[in-house]
Amino acid sequence: MRSSGKLIIYTDLDGTFLDHETYSCSAALPALRAATARAIPVVFCSSKTLAETEVIRKQVGARDPFIVENGGAVYVPRNYFPFGIRRSVQRGDFEVVELGTPYPRLVEALRRLREDLPCRFLGFHDMTEEEVAADAGLTLAEAQRAKEREYDEAFKIVGADPAVVGVVLARIEEAGLRYTRGGRYYHLLGDHDKGRAVRILNDLFRRAHGSIVTVGLGDTLNDLPMLEAVDLPVVVKKADGDHDRSVIGRLPQVRLAPGVGPRGWEAAVREILAERVGA
Ligand SMILES: [Mg+2]
Repeated sequence: MRSSGKLIIYTDLDGTFLDHETYSCSAALPALRAATARAIPVVFCSSKTLAETEVIRKQVGARDPFIVENGGAVYVPRNYFPFGIRRSVQRGDFEVVELGTPYPRLVEALRRLREDLPCRFLGFHDMTEEEVAADAGLTLAEAQRAKEREYDEAFKIVGADPAVVGVVLARIEEAGLRYTRGGRYYHLLGDHDKGRAVRILNDLFRRAHGSIVTVGLGDTLNDLPMLEAVDLPVVVKKADGDHDRSVIGRLPQVRLAPGVGPRGWEAAVREILAERVGA
């Protein structure tokens, strides 16, 4: 089926566009190239920080807007759209729409939450670069960039059974904050998620192009709000070879990519390009 709408692709990074273990995107690159050759925007929408996302953008030559820290901020290259962006601030070469709760407030909230809990909380702010590197399989430089957080605290709950984890997560919500879960960590957030950031960009793309058809690709729970905000949600397989049931069970129209991470990305994007733009 061909569509008259401009195709826009939103994608998670870790475990989706990037391999969960090696963080390589090489398997997805041919389809990324096919999309960019047809001027189809590919918007990175990740829990990664600005510093981490900039490295990946440079590596693959990406020039489109992107979303950092689970929807904490939307970055649009200056003059990307032929109009100004409401409620944006200038930061270097970008117009930035900030949606997230400032990081120091999240860290303080975590500190208060853990005072009377029967388990150990470990946030990125508690961990050295060496510890983050060892825990997440990153180099020291990558771990340093991962710790440059502004709107989202990555954390884990150490040595707790599922019932205690449930109590911890309920306490977060009682404190007026939110949590989500990526491939490796829980994330503490204020009142933002990937979906809110995607809807802001959808409005901008619609204003620029008229009708749009949006695709979203993800692998875990933190992608659900993004996948709910697009026309064609796609879930790739996790490293264990399964699709995340907590995500696909909540998306009636979901497409299941036939491969793990970037291999699934490649196959799904190829299929959608063939259907939508005859590529
Ligand atoms: Mg992921």
